[in-house]
Amino acid sequence: MKAPSVLLINPWIADFAAYDLWAKPLGLLYVGKFLRSYGYEFQLIDLTDRLRWNNSDPATKLSGRGKYHKTIIPKPEAVTHVPRRFGLYGATREQFLSALQNIDPPKAILLTSHMSYWYPGVAETVKILRESFPAAKIILGGIYASLFPEHARKIVQPDHLITGYGEKQTLMLLDTIHEIERDYSAIPEFDDTGILPWDLYTKINAVAIMSSRGCPLHCDYCATPYLNPRFLQRAPEDVISEIVCLYEQFGIRQFAFYDDALFINKKRHIIPILKGLLKHGVNAKFHTPNGLFAREIDPELAALMKRAGFQTIRISLESIIPKWQKASTDKVSTDHFELALNNLENAGYKRSDIEAYLIMGLPGQRYSDIEKSIRYVADLGAVSRLASYSPIPHTAHWNRAKALGSVWDDMDPLLTNNTLYPCATDDFPVEKFLELRQLSNDLNMSVRKQPLKEDN
Ligand code: SF4
Repeated sequence: MKAPSVLLINPWIADFAAYDLWAKPLGLLYVGKFLRSYGYEFQLIDLTDRLRWNNSDPATKLSGRGKYHKTIIPKPEAVTHVPRRFGLYGATREQFLSALQNIDPPKAILLTSHMSYWYPGVAETVKILRESFPAAKIILGGIYASLFPEHARKIVQPDHLITGYGEKQTLMLLDTIHEIERDYSAIPEFDDTGILPWDLYTKINAVAIMSSRGCPLHCDYCATPYLNPRFLQRAPEDVISEIVCLYEQFGIRQFAFYDDALFINKKRHIIPILKGLLKHGVNAKFHTPNGLFAREIDPELAALMKRAGFQTIRISLESIIPKWQKASTDKVSTDHFELALNNLENAGYKRSDIEAYLIMGLPGQRYSDIEKSIRYVADLGAVSRLASYSPIPHTAHWNRAKALGSVWDDMDPLLTNNTLYPCATDDFPVEKFLELRQLSNDLNMSVRKQPLKEDN
């Protein structure tokens, strides 16, 4: 019997700004890998695949990061007051339609979702899929579907919506659609081992790697513990063989670790991984767009990072104010941060190569809290990268933002967009956030003698 073929879709991003930091739809690819091991075949349309659509800024293609093509669309009603242009990022509508014309009508389509406030991109993608394949069952999963399931059911109207771990749930759903019977008793919820189905991409020059799932910490603003309640690290040998295979067989030279907690249990995890990659002669660039834990960067790890080719190093500092450090599970202190900078410098990095994430816009956070943190980072010769807070349901800070009236239960997820500074108040208005951005840019310029490459 011919293997049933399923269409995997990574939808458009809909936002005021978006920038590609080696992003790949890892959740969707993990589901694809899992289903493949149970006999399914796939076609993939990744609407944000800049190499495939060949319509993004050519100068930024090779590094694996860069600007997406933007198609301006009318602003959704909830954000008409925002004085910026709204758009769909990735393929043009014509490119999407032409890609759909070249595939056989599938019985089922798996669609992922990312930031909740990108949902207009998901809804627009589904509208086109419905017109092209009216008989196909559309299954929606991913972050938005898990965080705002009722909203997604109402607005996107998938045939099926999956929350939480998608692998086994999707297998059971697809089997029902394809009238396949099997015994599920020994089938796990998910399986993170092995190599993802990168062969579904026709061109690829950078890859995102997850060496673990979830995070053992519980920061007040983060939904990872809700979305991924189990913290599981893959075996180092498994991660090494995935990277070596991508390096040797696919020619990949740019890797981004998308782990939430890459350096936890370092002696059993990242250190053997990096030693193994060096042993295999992997000569590539590694990037860490998610923040690293400063307290784990000791002289041994710093030296290994340098030898292995870590290039983009972002450390989660979040704030130098103890109250906000507590909200970040005390994952970093200023002592940790300064020690990590010294160790990285001794390993051969320039301090101005190191970026410190600072969170801004938390409910109740003051202008001076953020300003002090920005100045502290610059005084140490490092670079500050401001991460604007976006309120997320199922987190402690959501409840705080709710008590302050900044969010409410049935709010439009568009209003959680960090571009809008959702927790701005009369005392700390949006203009003051922009002033802080300017301060960070100015100090970074004096540290680096050149502008920091923007993420958006
Ligand atoms: S350390 Fe990072 S991933 Fe873990 S809970 Fe905190 S913010 Fe989330």
